[in-house]
Amino acid sequence: MIHPIYLLGTASLRKPTIQVDKSTPEFETLLSDMVETMHDARGIGLAAPQIGKEERVFVVDVSPMEEDFIESGTPMPEQPMFFINPHILEETGDDEEFEEGCLSIPDIQEIVVRPNTVTIQYQDRDFVQKTETFDGILARVIQHEYDHVEAVLFIDHLTAFKRRLLKRRLNEIQAGNTEAEYAVYTDERGVIYPQELE
Ligand SMILES: [Zn+2]
Repeated sequence: MIHPIYLLGTASLRKPTIQVDKSTPEFETLLSDMVETMHDARGIGLAAPQIGKEERVFVVDVSPMEEDFIESGTPMPEQPMFFINPHILEETGDDEEFEEGCLSIPDIQEIVVRPNTVTIQYQDRDFVQKTETFDGILARVIQHEYDHVEAVLFIDHLTAFKRRLLKRRLNEIQAGNTEAEYAVYTDERGVIYPQELE
């Protein structure tokens, strides 16, 4: 099932997430809904708070960026990837500039600086414990999605000056006025379908 994407300003994006385990009800449904919703919105990552859920989970599918992997000679792991109860152990390597966007903050792309390598402990969808190190695009997507399960958004990493410049547009997004081609949700207006915005 495709869920509406919770926009900047919704309480869900700023709430702490909770650990999950095998007994979490409807957990498989949550995972498949998250993948379906991410694909529908043409995203490469999605965290549970972005569909109003509080589970500590995010999904990633970087297969649209296959060419970048071929160019860099890095093999792409099987997609989509499931990060359950993730915990970043360390971020290393050089700081890198990369333009980020977010399904919860449509139409805004800004350069964010982060270390280019991340080591993360997580469980896969079968609850098998893993510790892995990622770099490049995959590291960046994982850092961005991990922020979501920590109730952080990429705009939090921008300078106060930059945020002031964006303020008007961010206010519009919070009010539900976006060009998004997928259903969105605000706490005040509920679900807004793209056709209502045309
Ligand atoms: Zn995001």
